[in-house]
Amino acid sequence: MSRGPSIRRPRVGVLAIQGAVAEHEEALAAVGAAPRQVRMPEELLGLEALVIPGGESTTFGLVAERSGLLAAVREAVGSGLPTLGTCAGLIMLAKETTGGEQTLIGGMDLVVRRNAFGRQPASFEAELDVPAMGAEPVHGIFIRAPWIESAGPGVEVLAHHGGRAVAARQDAMLVTAFHPELAGERRFHAWLVERARQRAGEVEPQRGGVRVRAQ
Ligand code: GLN
Repeated sequence: MSRGPSIRRPRVGVLAIQGAVAEHEEALAAVGAAPRQVRMPEELLGLEALVIPGGESTTFGLVAERSGLLAAVREAVGSGLPTLGTCAGLIMLAKETTGGEQTLIGGMDLVVRRNAFGRQPASFEAELDVPAMGAEPVHGIFIRAPWIESAGPGVEVLAHHGGRAVAARQDAMLVTAFHPELAGERRFHAWLVERARQRAGEVEPQRGGVRVRAQ
């Protein structure tokens, strides 16, 4: 399917409490979205997709709960807003962590283990095979990353590292334990924008992979 040069740019929010907000905005702009930062609940209005960046999930939970943002994001994600969560964003979208009580957004049928790869070394990079995103490997940058300890039947695990699940999707939610926005990797953001376009009725849903269109 070809699209004209004047194609509409879906409005995609990036939760701007912490994490690599600018890098997510850059990735979104590169795949045809109009990014905007979200700090307050009312800034979610009119958004067509959302990115939850990395950072420290406990801090995120505390800050976002206080401002009312957490409840608003929970409602938006629950109503089917296409959402991409990276690293701490993955943790926030899980229903539970192995570490016990922690304020989460939830939405995905996942149990995650925080800081799962251990602290020796806490951060590393690895080439990942992610068939759902195409044949080209994904350069995974892991920073005190979680892994997916277990996933429910509605979850599709998209990638493994060292035998551990590190990327998954469920309905309109996509999560990675690594940081595509720090690696110049655009396919996860492209998937998100594609989902926003599908929701707006602009494109037909596709089976499997994602089409990436250079801007
Ligand atoms: N270790 C962080 C947490 O548990 C996640 C790290 C990240 O987002 N890069 O919340």
